[in-house]
Parts: sequence; structure tokens; C-alpha cells
Amino acid sequence: MVNMINRAVVAAFFISNIVLGFVLTETTASDQTPSVIIVGAGMSGISAAKTLSDAGIKDILILEATDRIGGRIHKTNFAGLSVEMGANWVEGVGGSEVNPIWTMAKNLKLKTYHSDYDNLSSNTYKQKGGLYKKSVAQASLDRADEATTFSTNLSLSLSVHRDEDISVLAAQRLSNHVPSTPIDMAVDYYGNDYEFAEPPRVTSLQNTRPLPTFTNYGEDVYFVADPRGYESVVHFVAKQFLTTNNASLITDPRLKLNKVVREIRYSRSGVIVKTEDGSIYRAGYVMVSTSIGVLQTKLINFQPDLPSWKIMAMYQFDMSIYTKIFLKFPYKFWPTGNGTEFFLYAHERRGYYTIWQQLEMEYPGANALLVTVTDDESRRIEQQPDSATKAEIMKVLRDMFGNHIPEATDILVPKWWSNRFFKGTFSNWPIGVSRYEFDQIRAQVGRVYFTGEHTSEHYNGYVHGAYLAGIDSANMMINCIKKKMCKFQNLPKGT
Ligand SMILES: Cc1cc2nc3c(=O)[nH]c(=O)nc-3n(C[C@H](O)[C@H](O)[C@H](O)COP(=O)(O)OP(=O)(O)OC[C@H]3O[C@@H](n4cnc5c(N)ncnc54)[C@H](O)[C@@H]3O)c2cc1C
Repeated sequence: MVNMINRAVVAAFFISNIVLGFVLTETTASDQTPSVIIVGAGMSGISAAKTLSDAGIKDILILEATDRIGGRIHKTNFAGLSVEMGANWVEGVGGSEVNPIWTMAKNLKLKTYHSDYDNLSSNTYKQKGGLYKKSVAQASLDRADEATTFSTNLSLSLSVHRDEDISVLAAQRLSNHVPSTPIDMAVDYYGNDYEFAEPPRVTSLQNTRPLPTFTNYGEDVYFVADPRGYESVVHFVAKQFLTTNNASLITDPRLKLNKVVREIRYSRSGVIVKTEDGSIYRAGYVMVSTSIGVLQTKLINFQPDLPSWKIMAMYQFDMSIYTKIFLKFPYKFWPTGNGTEFFLYAHERRGYYTIWQQLEMEYPGANALLVTVTDDESRRIEQQPDSATKAEIMKVLRDMFGNHIPEATDILVPKWWSNRFFKGTFSNWPIGVSRYEFDQIRAQVGRVYFTGEHTSEHYNGYVHGAYLAGIDSANMMINCIKKKMCKFQNLPKGT
């Protein structure tokens, strides 16, 4: 059993490593299927737990810091609307392979809406208002498309063996297209930052062009706007192995909410996990599913320290920030109808409230807008009062649409970066991290295993990446437990 042990025993544990080794050996040596603690109940932690459970490892305990499961998939009530503060789209639909999250969304009959960006050339606003001529905006979009095709071909020609990776910006320079006018910067921001939440100078070309999410699963993206929330895909997976009551609520004692893990002690014979409220649990293995942003802080103290190869790899990867700001108005003052859903605002300051979505299709009659900011703008905005953000946005909207427009009645500014349980929104593959180092991020350290979207072999940053990473990491653990195949297969550098 994964069990809580009393403080006295633990005090004894901590006195010497010899004692630690002895007691843990005693608790785990006789176990046929050792117990596993899973830290975090986001998509990857739940998916890992289900995979373990399916393989017969049912003696599991999931410790989740917050009062809910789902992690970065999180709906909230905004002025009477159910909106997504975290993941919103099922990305990668309509391709040769089927995105497993899309299968779940279909299964659950989630309300999803195809996002059509085709008409941006007719919907790009100048800094001081008024639309760019369609031909001008189209020319900018075409130039960006050509540069993307060039960079994708270049990326495919670069040798992985000789660490030839370059940044997306370097590829833009090589294609003689470095966006520098407001409209080119807005289009560039839409093509890069809107997906990766970091600018082209940061992002690895080789690991993002082409992007497996779209080449494997398809180019289409679907916006989830369902009162049950996108998080119902996590509940869907959880309810396949956790017990529920008649009201379909999870009541399984193996899921413990409001348990903030602060310490993980590991040895050759087992693990001890300590939470902020003073509880202490021991088990044969632990699976850590917190974000790479959390791993880059000292929220969890590993004893002994993780090895330096692990720390170096983890600290090199990026946790980006993507902020979806929802606004509600007394009435609509923006165009609606076919081809109007997405619009761009081209400001001389790159990424200044650039990407807009009017939500009439998803929330008819709600008079709601969504504007997205990323990276430094997100950090800046998280640190100022929402009233200041609202004032900035109103100025932008007045510049776009004129002074007659009404004041927003409500604003929602999610703060993922300041939240110690997330420290950002999703991982982005930066220039300078090779496939070898990436593998080190997901490699286990003794009995400590790692999962999370940032460990997904092909789909880091996405919900499907989190789901598949959970399965992969659990299978590595299962191989170790059941077949004694415990060595992480890190390919040699340069392969
Ligand atoms: C704003 C935003 C927009 C996004 N948009 C999309 C999108 O449109 N499409 C898409 O596919 N993906 C999107 N993503 C990414 C997607 O949400 C994530 O990749 C995925 O949900 C991550 O799941 P995870 O299990 O790896 O991590 P998490 O969901 O972060 O789960 C980790 C869990 O660990 C818990 N935890 C942290 N620290 C501790 C601790 N010390 N002790 C115990 N528990 C702890 C956390 O509370 C959390 O529940 C978006 C994310 C955000 C935030």
C-alpha cells in the first residue's frame, strides 16, 4: 500500500541514509507490484496513472496541489460564460493519423468550432485604426508563407548529427525576410508567437519545422466552448480507472487533492514524498508530472539533489507564457458573420494586443472578445492590475474602431506565470537544446520518473502531448517494474 507514515518514523528516516535504506527495503522488497505515487493530476499524470492501472499496478496515489484535476486545462465562469483559461483548441485534426484528444472530444460530444484564419487579409487593422487594404495584408501573409516554406525545407536539410540547429529568426534572415513593419510583425507574430508563445529568435527551427502535431494529425484546429469544459477530456480518462459516485464525481481515495508535494526523497529501494501540510507518504516509485516551469523552481526539493545532467537539461528548456484575455461588452461594435472571427492589430510594438477573436459563433449574443498576448507582454500584464490592462485594451480597441465604442463590462486575465503550480503555460523548444538533452529531461533518475507535456517525444506543448507522454512514461516504469528493464534508452549524442 502507498501509505502515510507517522512523523516519528520519518524523523528516524531522515537521521541517516542507512536507516532510510533499511526501512524502505523492508516496505518494498516483498511487493510484487510496488506502489507508485504520481505528483500532479493534469492530463499527463492522469494518463500515466491510468496506464499503470491498466497494467495491473493499481496501488497508486495521485497527489495534486490544487483542488481539482485537469491542471492547465481549466474552465472558469466568466460573466456567465464557461470559458477556458488554459488549453482551448484541439490542435491537429484532419490528418492521416487521428489525434487521441479529438477522439475523446468526439466521444464526449464536446462542442467544438473549427477555427478559420483564412480571411486575415481582410481583417488586419492599422495602429491608428482602419483596415489595411486586402492586397497589402495579403502580400504580407504571402511573404510570411514563403519564408515558412523556406525555413521548413531548410530545417529538413539540417543535420541532426552535427547539431546544426538554428533559430527560426536565423532562418528568416537566410530567407531575407525579417519582419520589421507593423503589419509584417503582426503577421509574423500570428505565425510564430501565437503558436509557440515565444519569438522566432528563441525557438528552435529543427524541432518546430515541420511540426509533428500538424504533419501527423492534420492542419485543422478546433476551439472548445462547452459548458462541461475542455477539462472533461481529463475526467474522461480519470473515470476509466478511478471510482466515482452516482453523480459521476470521482470519490476514489487514491486521488488526493490539495496536497502540495514539497520533498521527494529517493534511494535505491524506494521513495518518500512529503507534502506541505506535513503528510508523508512512501512508495516504491514516484512519477513527477509537474510542468517544466515548476521543475525549474525549488517548489519540490529532491533528496539527494537530481544529478547535474538532469538539472542542466531541465533548466535549458523553455516554459513559455500565453495569456488569453476575455472581455465582455454591452453590445458588439466589431464585424460579425463569415470570415470575421479572427482579426489582427498591427502595432509598432511587436506583440502588443495583436491577435483578436470575436466569439459570436461560440457564445452567440454574449458580446465577447478574446485577445491573446505572450512572453514579455504576459509577464508585464500579470504584474499590473487588471484595470490597467483593461485601460490599455480599451485604448487599442478605440484606435481600431473609434471613440464611440462602449467600455468593457468584464475582463478576465489568467495568471499562469505567477502561479507556483504552473510557472507558465506550455513548453517551447528553444535553440540550443538537442534531442539528446531533451531525452535527458524525460529520463528517470533511479526510482523518480518524469512525465508531462514537456517530455512528449513529438508533441511537447499540447494536450495530446501530455496524454501521450503519460502513457510513455508509465510504460517505461512498467518495463522497469515488470521486466526489470530499468535503463533509460538515451540515444547517443547526435543521433
Ligand atoms: C493558456 C494555455 C493555453 C493552451 N492552449 C492549448 C491549446 O489550445 N491546445 C493544446 O493542445 N494545448 C494547449 N495548452 C497546453 C496544454 O494545456 C498542456 O500541454 C497540458 O494541459 C499539460 O498537461 P500536463 O499534465 O503535462 O501538466 P499540468 O496540466 O500542468 O499538470 C500538472 C499538475 O501538477 C500539479 N502540481 C504542480 N506542482 C505540484 C506539486 N508541488 N505537488 C502536487 N501537484 C503539483 C498542478 O496543479 C497540475 O495539476 C495550453 C496551456 C495553457 C496554460
